[in-house]
Amino acid sequence: MREIDKLAKKLGYEIIYNKDSDCESLYNDCMSSGDTMWVGEYNNEDYALISFFHEYGHRLIHKNDFIEKCNYNTLMIEIECWNLGIEAAREMGYLFSDDAVGWAYSKKAMSYVGNDCRECSTWEEKYKPLLWINKGKGERYDDL
Ligand SMILES: [Zn+2]
Repeated sequence: MREIDKLAKKLGYEIIYNKDSDCESLYNDCMSSGDTMWVGEYNNEDYALISFFHEYGHRLIHKNDFIEKCNYNTLMIEIECWNLGIEAAREMGYLFSDDAVGWAYSKKAMSYVGNDCRECSTWEEKYKPLLWINKGKGERYDDL
């Protein structure tokens, strides 16, 4: 049994592996919605596990008002979910290599730079105009 399966049982997730689902192919990636997590194929089990904890971080982040405080900024939310997940992992006795932590922040989290509205449909209209760089300007900056 994979470590992810043990953790999923403990934390109340149903895991659907990429090969079992008919959703789009996931490689070195996973996603979750509620108590369901779709886990893709990973070339590194440490990456799979740290990703699992990142998804768990998405569950944990709703326990405080961080999301509202950062005006639904997806990049900040993503980074915080990595922080929360890695901290939760540490509390459960899982420590990750520098390689895995570096991969998480530099590859996964940074992929959201310029993609702030990826996970929040209201961000574009409601929060983007509030960015300091856009205040008082009549035009939109789509490259932000
Ligand atoms: Zn995420």
